[in-house]
Amino acid sequence: MSTSTLSLTPPDSPAVDHHRGLTFPLPPLADPSKDSEGKLFRRQPFDAFLVLDVEATCEEGGGFDWPNEIIEWPVVLMKWSEMDSSGRMSALAPVAEFRSFVRPTWAPQLSPFCTSLTGITQSQVDPAPSFPEVLEHFRLFLVDHGLLDSGTGEPRVAYTFATDGPWDLRDFLVKQCWLSGIPLPPWVGPAVLDVRKLLRRCLGCDSAKREREREAERDSDGAGKHSPGLSIPCQLRKLRLDPFEGRQHCGIDDTRNIARVLAELARRGCTLEQNTAL
Ligand code: AMP
Ligand code: MG
Repeated sequence: MSTSTLSLTPPDSPAVDHHRGLTFPLPPLADPSKDSEGKLFRRQPFDAFLVLDVEATCEEGGGFDWPNEIIEWPVVLMKWSEMDSSGRMSALAPVAEFRSFVRPTWAPQLSPFCTSLTGITQSQVDPAPSFPEVLEHFRLFLVDHGLLDSGTGEPRVAYTFATDGPWDLRDFLVKQCWLSGIPLPPWVGPAVLDVRKLLRRCLGCDSAKREREREAERDSDGAGKHSPGLSIPCQLRKLRLDPFEGRQHCGIDDTRNIARVLAELARRGCTLEQNTAL
C-alpha cells in the first residue's frame, strides 16, 4: 500500500479545502509503478510547479514580527518535459515566468538596507501595482497557462507552489493579505513543496527527527529565512551544480536558482510532493 501526504482522501475524489470552500483537485496518489527494468518507482504527483521567492520591505535586524510588505512577486512555472516509456517523469523545465514589483502602501518608503539587500529601488516600486492588483494579474497568468479555469477559478491541473522554506507563503503572503485587508487567494492551496526540506530528505542530510528539531528551532526564533543555514548557493553546491546565477535576494534570480535546484532533484528521481501544510 502506498503512502502519500494527501492519502487520507480517496483517490479520484476532489479534496475540499474547508477553510475557503474551494475544491482543489488532488494529484494522483504516488503509487509505486515499475520501470522497464522492473524497478519500483513512485509516479510524480504534480504536473506543474510554481516556484516563488518573494522580496519584502525590511529593516536591518528586523525579524518576522516586523510588518514586511511584499515588493516583488516572481514566479517560474515549470512542467515536465520528458517521460520515459514506463511513465517515469525525468526532466522538469521552466516554461514561463511572471514577475511584478509591488508598491508598498503601509510604509511606502524603502529603507536603504532593503534596497541594498534586494537591489529593488524606490523608482521601481513607486509606479508598481498594489498587491491586490498584482494578485489579479497573476491569477490571469494562471488562467492563460491552463492552471486555473477562467470561469470557475478551479484548478485545471495538479499544481503546487514550490518555495525555499515555508516563509514566502506561510509568513510573507499571510502578513501581506492581512495588511491589504484581503483574504488569502484560493489558488494558493493548502500545502506547499518546501524545496529546502525536500533537498535535505533526498540527500539524506537529515533524519526525520533532526528535521523536526530544525523546524522547531526555526519556528521559535523566526529567523529561518535570514539564517545562512542551507542558503540557495549552498543547496546548489550540495547538488554539485554551477554556482548561483545572478544576484542573491533579487526575487527573480532567487526564484530561477530555486528552479534549478528543483529540476536537479527531479532529475535524480526525487518525488516532488508537498511536504509542508500552510
Ligand atoms: P530572501 O528570499 O532571502 O531574499 O529574503 C526575502 C525577504 O526576507 C527579503 O526581501 C527581506 O524582506 C527579508 N530578509 C532577508 N534577509 C534579511 C536580513 N538579513 N535582514 C532583514 N530582512 C531580511
Ligand atoms: Mg529572495
